[in-house]
Amino acid sequence: MIDAHVHLFPDRLFDAIWKWFDDNAWTIADKLYADQVVDRLQAGGADYVVGLLYAHRPGMAEELNAWIGALARRRPEVVACCTAHPRDADILSVLRRAKEVHGARLVKQHAHVLAIAPDDPVMFPLYEACIELGLPLNLHAGNGPRLPGYKAPTERISGAAHTRPVLERYPELRLIVPHLGSLEPDTFFDWLERYPNLYLDTALAMVDFMPSTKLGRRDRVGRYPGRILFGTDYPNIPFALGTELQELRGYGFARDVERELLHDTAARLFGLPPATGASQGERT
Ligand SMILES: [Zn+2]
Repeated sequence: MIDAHVHLFPDRLFDAIWKWFDDNAWTIADKLYADQVVDRLQAGGADYVVGLLYAHRPGMAEELNAWIGALARRRPEVVACCTAHPRDADILSVLRRAKEVHGARLVKQHAHVLAIAPDDPVMFPLYEACIELGLPLNLHAGNGPRLPGYKAPTERISGAAHTRPVLERYPELRLIVPHLGSLEPDTFFDWLERYPNLYLDTALAMVDFMPSTKLGRRDRVGRYPGRILFGTDYPNIPFALGTELQELRGYGFARDVERELLHDTAARLFGLPPATGASQGERT
């Protein structure tokens, strides 16, 4: 099993993020630092943990990228992402170094944290660098959750209307929209037909915390197993780890569908070795 949406930050940033969540969002039950997060997810059956972090101001990306690269060297089950702030001086060089020196396999950014809409031209160099380097981008582009602490109203800086211009302008960008597109899941599911390089992840969206789709999550998720990645958003979640995996397994998908969702789609996208034999994630 590959958990395609996990947050890994240096301790001091986790402390700051948790304080922000305490003040503005929900109480995180498991306030665990990076190594403990990886331990916990492995104990829950994850063979790989895709570690996500993001730069919220210019000039901090290089340090974060080096930090997660070092973690991934020490813990080979960690799949390192990298990040750049759209106002960093040389985004292509920052991301190239992250890929070539620190082994990054994807890029992460977050519209709400940046308070910059996906279709703001200031974002374009980031997309162009991802394409040039062949790195998928996990961009929190959806308009939920709507949390009071964000610097700008989420409908102004995110959502389907602000994402579609990116999909149209950069069809070759492999874009992962987390949380099944947040508050507009039907639109993003429809777009899986239209935009072949669009992917969704399930983080926070497999329980009744985010709105479900008109068709129902089971039908929608089961229709596009090659384009949907299972992820937990651990440790920044307001419910017990395992809740969403249990929900997904409860759908009773065919074995190959479940395997795509829990492993193969992420393995292809991030260039990880195909599973050999029965992985932990396939045990019941
Ligand atoms: Zn997340």
